[in-house]
Amino acid sequence: MRELSLGNDHKANPLYTHMTELQRQIKTKFSEFPLEFDVPMSQKTYFKLGGPAEVYVELAQKEQIASLINWCQENHYQYHFLGGGSNIIVADQGIAGIVIKIINQSIELEKKSNYALIRVGAGMKTALCVRKTIDEGYGGLEYFLGVPGTIGGAIYNNAHYLEDLIGAHVNRVEVLTEKGDFTWLDKETCEFAYDSSRFQRTKEIIYQVEFLLEQGDKNESMAMVKKATEYRAQTQPLGLPSSGCIFQNVPNSQTLKELFPQFKERTHVPGGFLIDQAGLKGAHEGDIEVSEKHAAFFVNKGNGTADQVQKLITRVKQKVAEKFNVSLQEEVFWLK
Ligand SMILES: Cc1cc2nc3c(=O)[nH]c(=O)nc-3n(C[C@H](O)[C@H](O)[C@H](O)COP(=O)(O)OP(=O)(O)OC[C@H]3O[C@@H](n4cnc5c(N)ncnc54)[C@H](O)[C@@H]3O)c2cc1C
Repeated sequence: MRELSLGNDHKANPLYTHMTELQRQIKTKFSEFPLEFDVPMSQKTYFKLGGPAEVYVELAQKEQIASLINWCQENHYQYHFLGGGSNIIVADQGIAGIVIKIINQSIELEKKSNYALIRVGAGMKTALCVRKTIDEGYGGLEYFLGVPGTIGGAIYNNAHYLEDLIGAHVNRVEVLTEKGDFTWLDKETCEFAYDSSRFQRTKEIIYQVEFLLEQGDKNESMAMVKKATEYRAQTQPLGLPSSGCIFQNVPNSQTLKELFPQFKERTHVPGGFLIDQAGLKGAHEGDIEVSEKHAAFFVNKGNGTADQVQKLITRVKQKVAEKFNVSLQEEVFWLK
């Protein structure tokens, strides 16, 4: 039997007829890029839920990232950045546009008298970065070893462990600006605060980060890591898919101090504590459940959906507002 020839006209190829306009255009323009189409984001996120990304691509090189962003802007295509996928929720209907995962994992150490400047690619796993700095004899990042995801994501959210914020250890950050230039921003410009940074309001890509770390003692560093790891294992539901804390801690107030004097010296009251006090541990929408172990975490018990997460967020916010007159703020980011 003779095979049907599709000729050179790619529009006649059945593979192409199912493509969106963006997929067709990007495949032609960036044929050398490792492009993937209709990638289920449940495979790329810690929460194990979310629909497909129209286009998904992993890039490390500056020129490639810059030319893709430039093209998206010229052609009015949406783009989104992904790190390790441990702090995001993807909508069930998926993501229109391009999901760009930054995978620059370079690491460079500039030793000074009693400190070092350590430049790390945004795509490096945070745990690996911390381990390398400890191995080189520098301290400061120990408590972040247990934070899942990448350095880029940690800087975007100014990751925290109790009162320690990762931004406190940063010297400067290299970004790709919306205008298409790579530039270094010093720490003050990054607007680091609890669970926030300037990167949440700008569309800049974090390309690499320079930490300033003091010389330390490896044994002491490892003891800090052990303490934090044990604390996480006791307090976080690490065995089930989640996106970490769904809600931020709540700024302390006179009312909260009177209600909960055990936190009166703290600037924030743990969001999970208030959710627990509102009787919501174990509350669920389908397979998405308020963790019994840490009430600020939602866990996915199997086939949870983003829609269920949204419904549970609304319920929890309402109940906590009714009970304590507190407005919970989300710590996770939605990609949609
Ligand atoms: C079990 C568990 C425990 C956790 N414990 C902690 C904890 O102790 N402390 C804490 O702070 N967080 C914690 N988290 C939340 C999360 O791991 C951190 O916020 C982490 O730093 C997110 O990094 P990521 O690479 O996974 O980011 P992603 O989830 O991939 O992305 C988060 C946001 O950052 C943006 N982003 C990522 N990379 C870049 C980049 N290069 N340029 C620009 N924007 C970028 C994304 O667009 C997105 O908006 C925990 C999560 C889980 C699942």
